[in-house]
Amino acid sequence: MSTCPTTWPPLRCPPERAATIPAEGTSLNLETPARALAVAAHPDDVEFGCGATLAKWARAGCQIHHLICTDGAKGSWDPDQDTAQLVLTRQEEQRAASRALGGTGEVTFLGWPDGELEAGLRQRWQVAYWIRKIRPDVVLGHDPWRRYRLHPDHRNAGFLVTDAIVAARDPHFFPEQELATHRPSALLLWEAEDPDHVEDVADFAEAKLTGLLSHRSQFRSTMNINESNAEKARDEIKSFRSRVLARLSEHGQLGGVSLGEAFKLMSNL
Ligand SMILES: [Zn+2]
Repeated sequence: MSTCPTTWPPLRCPPERAATIPAEGTSLNLETPARALAVAAHPDDVEFGCGATLAKWARAGCQIHHLICTDGAKGSWDPDQDTAQLVLTRQEEQRAASRALGGTGEVTFLGWPDGELEAGLRQRWQVAYWIRKIRPDVVLGHDPWRRYRLHPDHRNAGFLVTDAIVAARDPHFFPEQELATHRPSALLLWEAEDPDHVEDVADFAEAKLTGLLSHRSQFRSTMNINESNAEKARDEIKSFRSRVLARLSEHGQLGGVSLGEAFKLMSNL
């Protein structure tokens, strides 16, 4: 008899008690798309949200693309940080993370100021442009309807992706782009308020972790890894890996698999 919690999110349920059937109303695994576009607020959000799913699809021949809305310039706890250098470093880290996932597509930076991203018309124009240009079968992004979400960039990046999908599919939005309209077949929202879809990522946890650990400038502020003490940092990296694996295990339970990434699936876009 399982003692796993039945409510979402099921916290700290150990892997050996993982469910073996998907929760009612939960779908498992989309068909591998030919092209996928992940739209995020900051460098590293994609790897946290859907890195293992992208790695799985890339291995199966999917072209994966990253679109990062902000410059990531506030991603440091050091008040003396050279933020212009940080922006460049984070771009390099994001490209390395994409390669770690097996990415061969575009890694694009819109460059809006970190912490000040708005879900406005100019930003929507840009996201719709990239959806029309890349023509992804699946788009992935932040769930803008997640309750009590604190970071405005995550909320606004979520609204940008949903609003841009509407704009990209309808011909009277932004005709000056001179690009054919495009309607993706699915939108997957990570950090979902109401997850109802799981991608089985059993063989892709390592790729996700390598992608995440490519964001070395974020070790201190996001991953709780302090490199000033090498020995301690090794333990902290181990702890970070354990936390990521525990989360994949939690998400996997919803889909009846050992390791998963959970999303809200929107189709009929
Ligand atoms: Zn973020």
